[in-house]
Amino acid sequence: SYRKGGYHAVRVGDQFAGGRYIAQRKLGWGQFSTVWLAYDTRTSEYVALKIQKSAAQFAQAALHEIEILSAIANGDPSNSSCIVRLIDHFKHTGPNGQHVCMVLEFLGDSLLRLIRHNRYKGLGLNKVREICKCILIGLDYLHRELGIIHTDLKLENILLFSTIDPTKDPVRSGLAPILEKPEGNPNGGNTMNIIEKKLKRRARRVAAKISERKASMGGVVVEGAEKSQKNLDGIDARCKVVDFGSACCADKQFAEEIQTRQYRAPEVVLRAGYSFSVDIWSFACTAFELATGDMMFAPKGGQDFSEDEDHLALMMELLGKMPRKVAIGGAQSKDYFDRHGDLKRIRRLKFWPLDRLLVEKYNFSEKDAGEFAEFLCPLLDFAPEKRPTAQQCLQHPWLNLRNSTEDEMKNEANLGNVNVGMSNLEIKMG
Ligand code: ATP
Ligand code: MG
Ligand code: MG
Repeated sequence: SYRKGGYHAVRVGDQFAGGRYIAQRKLGWGQFSTVWLAYDTRTSEYVALKIQKSAAQFAQAALHEIEILSAIANGDPSNSSCIVRLIDHFKHTGPNGQHVCMVLEFLGDSLLRLIRHNRYKGLGLNKVREICKCILIGLDYLHRELGIIHTDLKLENILLFSTIDPTKDPVRSGLAPILEKPEGNPNGGNTMNIIEKKLKRRARRVAAKISERKASMGGVVVEGAEKSQKNLDGIDARCKVVDFGSACCADKQFAEEIQTRQYRAPEVVLRAGYSFSVDIWSFACTAFELATGDMMFAPKGGQDFSEDEDHLALMMELLGKMPRKVAIGGAQSKDYFDRHGDLKRIRRLKFWPLDRLLVEKYNFSEKDAGEFAEFLCPLLDFAPEKRPTAQQCLQHPWLNLRNSTEDEMKNEANLGNVNVGMSNLEIKMG
């Protein structure tokens, strides 16, 4: 991908926008871009620099993302809407072509990494509530003030605030990317082989620094499941929604197939048209995943049925039968449903309602399960127009419930523990 039309290769210390931004280390990458931590010499702050691939379709996608992010930033000068802020944008010419670059506020780990750190065990409900509030504030702002649908809400696209000062943290200040596994990392592979020895020495130094830090923190560090002891009380659970590459204005939709499979709403599967309420569906899937560590729906195609059909069956097993009017209302409906509104190829459904699932599979107390299901079920109404808006969700009493510390500890014991504020690297090296 580091060729004409592809990614721009960046080295630590590279300058951008006439020297204003200086690259520090790679934060992440996606289909469209690599994202670097950069130092803004004008404001003396750290920023995230998203450098798009250079081919025309990527440049166009970046300009679209910039348009949406500018609308978001202009409508929210106080930057309080729980959505990532665009600070600047410019073009950068390199050996692979001209790259559109976005300068974004620097954020921390995604919720997906948070759940991974926790070995896919889910978080305590008080934390889930805090995170849900943030996401809903973001969605309410997008939907009501700007008329924008995100269309790709999921754990990966929600980032926590960074609690780390990149200047002070030895792991985070430039060594981490070198120690990442090389596979799939568009920058990591070759470096790894060429200067392996040097890196091993460096890794030993980092390990020494980490154990120093462990000692200074009273030894509270994740070292495998049996020793993980810290709960989430220490983290700032504020978070922000990111990745507006596929967002659209409700009145200017261009894609029929939107959303990542597991978070896709039934009306999108059935091609029945969509609106803001597709984000509410994905939000509900995200909230479930935060609380349980499992995806709400993980459809798979089989010999006699497609992934779409399995997805529809899973939805009905959890939420009950789809009303006939909804089932037969999409351009794809005829492929999957007969005229009675029954699935053509998956005839026997095993119903397992959400509140029972939470109790029987995830060890929720009856009370927690009942309350959580009562919050989530309306958001998963098969009829999109019946789903509450983000604004209405924000009024729901569940968001302001508070489990006692004792209940929360019981939950976390059932679900497992997490230690945040420690990087992935430390967990690996622990
Ligand atoms: P995708 O294939 O998901 O559309 P993309 O090329 O559009 O990818 P993003 O998803 O925007 O890129 O960013 C890629 C990764 O970079 C993110 O998953 C995240 O790890 C990191 N990242 C993005 N924005 C920020 C930010 N503001 N602060 C810190 N890290 C970020
Ligand atoms: Mg992304
Ligand atoms: Mg994207």
